[in-house]
Parts: sequence; C-alpha cells; structure tokens
Amino acid sequence: MSEPRIVVCPHCHSPNRVPAERLADSGSCGKCSSPLFRGEPLELDATSFDKHIGRSDIPVLVDFWAPWCGPCRAMAPAFAEAARQLEPEFRLSKVNTEEEQQLAARFGIRSIPTLALFRNGREVARQAGAMDAASLMRWVRSLV
Ligand SMILES: [Zn+2]
Repeated sequence: MSEPRIVVCPHCHSPNRVPAERLADSGSCGKCSSPLFRGEPLELDATSFDKHIGRSDIPVLVDFWAPWCGPCRAMAPAFAEAARQLEPEFRLSKVNTEEEQQLAARFGIRSIPTLALFRNGREVARQAGAMDAASLMRWVRSLV
C-alpha cells in the first residue's frame, strides 16, 4: 500500500486524501463532489494559490500570464494540451498577473509568460518565455 497523496480540489480547494495508486481514477472531491482533475488549467487567485501550493502533494505548474500579453495568449492552447496530458501527475494552473499583482510581486515575476513548478510548497524550477506543448511537457517531466 502506498501513502495517500493530498490532492487539492480545483473547485472548492479542499484537501483530499487519495491513495497514490488511485490518482489516475479521476475521483471526486469528498466535500463538493467535483472531479479532482478536469484535464484543464486551473485559474488561481491569491487565496486558492496558497491552498494549492501549500497543501498539494501533486507538483503544481503555474503559468504566470496576462490577457494583454500576445505570447501568453499564443501559448494558452499548448498549456491546455499539456494539462490534458500531465494530469494527474501534475496540476496545471494559471495566475493572471494583472489581477493578482501581489502574487506576481511575491515571486518577482519580471517577464511573462513565466512558468514555475512548485513542489511541497517550494518553487523548484522556473522558465521564462513561451513554449510549445512538447517542450513544456519534456521540461516539466525532467524536473521530477
Ligand atoms: Zn471540492
């Protein structure tokens, strides 16, 4: 038997304990019954960001972006494709730096898009600039 992993619900942001071998079964949240993985990037604000980064046992990849940024918008389909393929191994999320300026300042985001991988509450890697889906997945998988 493997240790249960904490999966933070993408809907109500409650932590759920899921046996590691059942992560791929796409279970639902014990509190709100929403699917724990939706195969799409999750928009985070300052409050939900801390719940996911602070509690998740699943590494969280964050795309720091803004609506006015052309390369960010161009990368969005690649990031969505990566979400479909990388969940439930990773949680893919997005932070709108225009709305969440304090988060962007806290992490010293100087250019967008910036991708950052968080594991056990800490940032473990960062990459500035847009990537296609294949490069993005190769980069993320090389980090764990
Ligand atoms: Zn929930």
